Amino acid sequence: MSRRMSIYIHIPFCVKKCGYCDFLSFPVGDCGSGTAAVPDGSSKCGVPEEYLQSLLCEMRQESGDYADREVDTIFVGGGTPSLLLPRQAEALFDGVYQSFHVASDAEVTIEANPGTLSKEKLEIYRQMGINRLSIGLQSADDGELAVLGRIHRFSDFEKNFELARNCGFHNINIDLMSGLPGQTVESWLYTLHTAAGLDPEHISAYGLIIEEGTPFYQRYGTDGAAVGKDNEVSAEEQDQKKGEKDCGKLPSEEAERQMYHDTRDVLERFGYQQYEISNYAKRGYECRHNIGYWVRKEYVGLGLGAASMLNNIRWKNTSDLKKYMNNTDGRDGSGGKGAVRESAGVLKEEVQTLTLQEQMEETMFLGLRMNQGVSKVEFEKLYGIGIEQLYGIWLRRMSTEGLLIDGERVYLTERGRDLANYVMAGFLAG
Ligand code: SF4
Repeated sequence: MSRRMSIYIHIPFCVKKCGYCDFLSFPVGDCGSGTAAVPDGSSKCGVPEEYLQSLLCEMRQESGDYADREVDTIFVGGGTPSLLLPRQAEALFDGVYQSFHVASDAEVTIEANPGTLSKEKLEIYRQMGINRLSIGLQSADDGELAVLGRIHRFSDFEKNFELARNCGFHNINIDLMSGLPGQTVESWLYTLHTAAGLDPEHISAYGLIIEEGTPFYQRYGTDGAAVGKDNEVSAEEQDQKKGEKDCGKLPSEEAERQMYHDTRDVLERFGYQQYEISNYAKRGYECRHNIGYWVRKEYVGLGLGAASMLNNIRWKNTSDLKKYMNNTDGRDGSGGKGAVRESAGVLKEEVQTLTLQEQMEETMFLGLRMNQGVSKVEFEKLYGIGIEQLYGIWLRRMSTEGLLIDGERVYLTERGRDLANYVMAGFLAG
């Protein structure tokens, strides 16, 4: 069994929605069988049972298509997967191991939010072979967490981190976020030092993007100015505003740039190597699953809205919760009483067969996100044509401008990473 692939599993539920979030996730109170979770991890409310059953059903239905594949990374993301109750996490992973061939050395990650973890959950994770935990801290400053609408304080995170270590997790990522309303270069440095001081194996540091359709978009617009008026925001948002410090302003572009540079400098001093634009790891702890996306490894997404890429076809599952649950409603699909699944195609949307041109473009702009860039030899082996022949003019221009190194591998310089979108645009046709 030589063909390897990854699996992504989407859990689209959270305790409540954060003000900046445009991920596919719903507050648990909105989804029928769930009620709001208690942010100490002890809640009796987990993920809606119907959703879990649909997910298990989808796994059983899809598994036959991947019988010749070995799964070497699994990533359970969300949403807040740590909302799964211990018995639900157990059922989910029983389903995975029954449906797929999982390599004995697979990297198995689950995302967790502070305030939703407990000793019992962490012990089940370990028993189920989960060996990597990714915790969404975002900021070590309680005021900034309140602005974001997060459910937790820094002390909740600290307790969960310590609990995870005590339960035997030796591969932990901390997610951080810069460019927050009211954030200063100093407060970002404080967050960086505090997170790195805990000595996790991996740190992801993304910049906040104000996405259309979110409460933050209404408040901050695209230019960083607060555009929402108090009488236009919901009661929940007004609550959120209490406790905000200078929440009317996003950091200037200059301050954001400074934060990005400081991130690398500080984390390097703590022994982390940048290996992708927003990701840093201690040696040997780079996230294998995410690297898979950047090197175009094949993966299958399970769950609501989950994306897949296999045999150079990309697709997404439906993002319609009702449609997803109706189509994979926990019945066995055998044609017996109650069997409703029409075909796997009903769940799949936005099916796109990639042309050779699109495959080559993806190889360049995804590969260039990584510090190691793209190997010229491997590119030619894959596509039968050299990077030089295809992109020679752009390569020369970018290296003259000091944005790219054009050697055996093609990769971004530090300045190139600052202007990554500009550099990558040159590898897209038209
Ligand atoms: S916890 Fe994450 S997925 Fe859930 S609402 Fe907040 S940002 Fe979105």
